Amino acid sequence: MTEAPTGVAMALDPLVTRILAPNPSPFTYTGTQTYLVGTTDVAVIDPGPDEPEHLAALEAAIAGRPVRAILCTHTHRDHSPASRPLKTATGAPIIGCAPLVLEDAGPRADAAFDRDYAPDRVLGDGETVSGEGWTLEGVATPGHTSNHLCFALREEKALFTGDHVMGWSTTVIAPPDGDMTAYLLSLDKLLNRDDRVYYPAHGEPVAKPQRFVRGLIGHRKQREGQILRLLKADVHAIPAMVERMYVGLDPRLHGAAGRSVLAHLIDLERRGLVAERGGGWGMAA
Ligand SMILES: [Zn+2]
Repeated sequence: MTEAPTGVAMALDPLVTRILAPNPSPFTYTGTQTYLVGTTDVAVIDPGPDEPEHLAALEAAIAGRPVRAILCTHTHRDHSPASRPLKTATGAPIIGCAPLVLEDAGPRADAAFDRDYAPDRVLGDGETVSGEGWTLEGVATPGHTSNHLCFALREEKALFTGDHVMGWSTTVIAPPDGDMTAYLLSLDKLLNRDDRVYYPAHGEPVAKPQRFVRGLIGHRKQREGQILRLLKADVHAIPAMVERMYVGLDPRLHGAAGRSVLAHLIDLERRGLVAERGGGWGMAA
């Protein structure tokens, strides 16, 4: 593992600098990675958690340059809360994903969401924000969350993938806001692009992105096959499925694995293959 030390600005490419936040956990790997894009003026992608130490590191890396935009891929609490103090400190607008519409489909948001996120401008799919020598384009990628956006840096054919594609583990899909059907469509969407490199919010850059995404799709198809085999073998409860599917998983991640299994089951139910009955799941009649 060759991570940058927390708080140190690390140049990855002429236009891209990475700063690691001090929030490592079983869910965030070494922590959230904030990216600065630009040279004479900059954009900040995924400012991260509202931690004074991280804000000080960001301000040191910005070094007085004008900040054109504070961009958020989605509103999990390890990504967007620092947008507000950073806006106060720099005067830059918060641009990016939409706030979650909580009423939309029942209780979409859980404790992991930043409910105070307030963008000055929502960046639609294909819309751009730019500065001196850089252009960032919103790429709508719902699935991990319903409001997830990736940002494409046109000049470098680089894609900031947030939590949609991570460099260390597959992403968690937690219903009701997380949606496996949408996630798989958003992976297909990336296959149709010609990005050279991905810069994820967690983990190292991904150098052969299309091959990597095909691997992620294959992994989900494998999980789906496992779930169907377990249902046919009369395993109906999600915790029992997790135990058989995720052998050796950190127990702290069992809850998240269970949410991803539920996300698969909902996707399979939509396709008419499985049905929920009596608190468990089974093959559709
Ligand atoms: Zn997230």
